Amino acid sequence: MKSITVPALLLVLATVASAQQPPQRGIVNITGQLYRAQNNNHYTVFLVTPEGVIMSDPINRDFGRWLKGEIATRFKVPVRYVLYTHRDWDHASGGVVFADTAEFVGHRNMLAALAPPAGNPPLTDAAVKMDANGNGLVERAEAAADIRDRFDQFDYNRDGVVSGGEIARGSVSDVHPPTVTYTDRHTVTLGGKTVTMIHLGTAHADDSSVLHFPAERAVFSADILQVRRLPGAVAPTVGAWIEALTRINTLDFEHALTGHALAGTKKDAGESLRYLQELSTGVAAGVAAGRSLGEIQKTLTLDSFKGFERWDTVRNDHIAAVYATLKGTTR
Ligand SMILES: [Zn+2]
Repeated sequence: MKSITVPALLLVLATVASAQQPPQRGIVNITGQLYRAQNNNHYTVFLVTPEGVIMSDPINRDFGRWLKGEIATRFKVPVRYVLYTHRDWDHASGGVVFADTAEFVGHRNMLAALAPPAGNPPLTDAAVKMDANGNGLVERAEAAADIRDRFDQFDYNRDGVVSGGEIARGSVSDVHPPTVTYTDRHTVTLGGKTVTMIHLGTAHADDSSVLHFPAERAVFSADILQVRRLPGAVAPTVGAWIEALTRINTLDFEHALTGHALAGTKKDAGESLRYLQELSTGVAAGVAAGRSLGEIQKTLTLDSFKGFERWDTVRNDHIAAVYATLKGTTR
């Protein structure tokens, strides 16, 4: 028998244990009848009214079934609305669980994002490496990484292979399309309560909405609004991010509810905007002074955000992105 060292054995046991760990789930009351629900690192919100529930992202089917059960048990009303923050698979999947009672509302651009794969773009570099038989497609047996993990969500036409077009569309096949769409803003009224969706422009995705709960003085946004956490990427431009955070900060609210990590207050939403503004003006000043990207990255430390999640890992990328925009160079 092959011997196995104790540390290696512990690693194997730890891996098995983590694979079997149930998802971390919970529901906390924010204020009045507004609740925030958790599925591991993802969060959604829901508002209970006498006529039913208005909720945001379903996250995924398994979580959706759990949440549907919790809502039925605790509040004894059906989910009447699912209001999407944006199309991304990790927030918007699984809505079909609520399709028997709910209407689905999203920004109009969600429809284009969910449309069947168009054209025949080549495989990505990562997918080319998976394509062992070189036929320009990724068969299920070839799939690795995200394509293996979410093969069925990529495989739009369910033919058992993933094409370049399906990769370009993304793993959104389990996103239940909105039945109602809007362009600038849209208000949902139910049981005497209202929620307004406001389009956030092109930051992160071009179909992002912030949900405003005026009576509860709360907002919910996934991936754009963050609390003591920097954005993953300031794409497509820092200007789009400043515009989106400005739109959020213009609203009247106290509770800043996010799709990941911490929730906070309006002050936190203001801090996120301040980061983007200081990033933008800092890089612009460096470019105007003729400094190189490397010099700007060394001096523009944005120290007042040091305690924010991702400060040490994404700041230099953000500076490089703003620098490229200002220089007019493609990245
Ligand atoms: Zn997203």
